[in-house]
Amino acid sequence: MRFRETAALAACVLLFAIVPPRAQPQAPSPERHVQQQRLWETLQKLGEFGKNPEGGVSRVGFTEEDLAGRAYVIGLMKEAGLDVRTDPAGNIFGHRAGTEALPPILFGSHIDSVPHGGNFDGDVGSLGAVEVIRALNDKNQKTRHPLEVVVWTNEEGGRFYAGLFGSTAAAGLLPADIASRRDDNGQLLADWLKRMGGDASRLPEARIAKGAYAGYLELHIEQGGTLETAEIPIGVVQGIVGISVRTCTAAGFANHAGTTPMNQRKDALAAASRAVLAVREEVRREPGRQVGTVGWMRVEPGAANVIPGRVQFPVELRDLDKERINRIAARILARFEIIAREENVEIVCTPPDLHEPAITSPAFRDAIRGAAASAGLKTTDLPSGAGHDAQNVARFAAMGMIFVPSKGGISHSPLEFTPPDQVANGAEVLYRTIMILDAALDAAARP
Ligand SMILES: [Zn+2]
Repeated sequence: MRFRETAALAACVLLFAIVPPRAQPQAPSPERHVQQQRLWETLQKLGEFGKNPEGGVSRVGFTEEDLAGRAYVIGLMKEAGLDVRTDPAGNIFGHRAGTEALPPILFGSHIDSVPHGGNFDGDVGSLGAVEVIRALNDKNQKTRHPLEVVVWTNEEGGRFYAGLFGSTAAAGLLPADIASRRDDNGQLLADWLKRMGGDASRLPEARIAKGAYAGYLELHIEQGGTLETAEIPIGVVQGIVGISVRTCTAAGFANHAGTTPMNQRKDALAAASRAVLAVREEVRREPGRQVGTVGWMRVEPGAANVIPGRVQFPVELRDLDKERINRIAARILARFEIIAREENVEIVCTPPDLHEPAITSPAFRDAIRGAAASAGLKTTDLPSGAGHDAQNVARFAAMGMIFVPSKGGISHSPLEFTPPDQVANGAEVLYRTIMILDAALDAAARP
């Protein structure tokens, strides 16, 4: 999940027409291709880079710790026989040849963390991808499509305020001034990019064209508690939710708290408080998994003996369905009008900053379900409430995401944890999904 929800998201989601995988009922074959212990050992080793005293990692993107972690993963990719290159945005790609002249199947995640983060967010998907390659090598298993493992640069955006940096570059959506950005210490992003094998002057070349890849898969921890509570090992992600954020201002009149009678007040905080509850009521008014949050409030002048004259607060709404977001927002704004009238204040909201939802490919969801069933693992469909690189990839390729449980639903914390067998379940489903898609995609191109 991103540290900051700032990067541009997909404006439209492209679902490439693909041949759906043949759903032939098979007896589950629980025998694993991936090796749990080997995968776990690499996860533990990666956790050494930027290790913090609490047991997690602080491996923020564009730092020495990130550089060291990247070097370790590049080493693993090379050991697995991958042909490794770094693009101008610092994204790491490891290529394995296929038997046919087809676009590669891309899969991976990120290895940077939030400050005081955990060992699993991003790492499970990146090292799970490398383990898939090792498992294929073990059996000398060939694929029709070339396979590419990707580690996206600076997903969390802990520095330079550029979350989803690498995948945003791949989608061709980076702001033009990005390379000249400096962090709070005056360091230049372009300089760090160079140290990571990137090149700020060639950033537009990191853009990936539609059709360049047959599809994208990302294995990730859920970062919520749905799977653990339901005791289901594999989540099939329906999509990454859209986010709409408005900043609203309630304007009343600041006056003496002792001398202004109760019926003559224009109390902006009383109105804003009712507005917060109205947001919750309107989000809950219809069934679904939509969420709505007022995450902060700025009260002016902010004194015990003054009636608040002005209050600012955001209204953030998330859902997979943009229409639902718009519908709920309209109801909320209508409620704000009534509250404003009754409280004798004005409530004005900015136009929404809207990040579009990114829907996963239905055919990829079917493939993930089929893969899990063949490994004897139960699945459930769920949305991702957190942002992921996959939402940018949706701009240029069909994509799917596999979730594994997060203990206690905790993430972005040193307490983040997924047990070794559940990590291995995810990698196994990734392996089998790739094999299903390898057979099904571009079937017409087969001689
Ligand atoms: Zn992540």
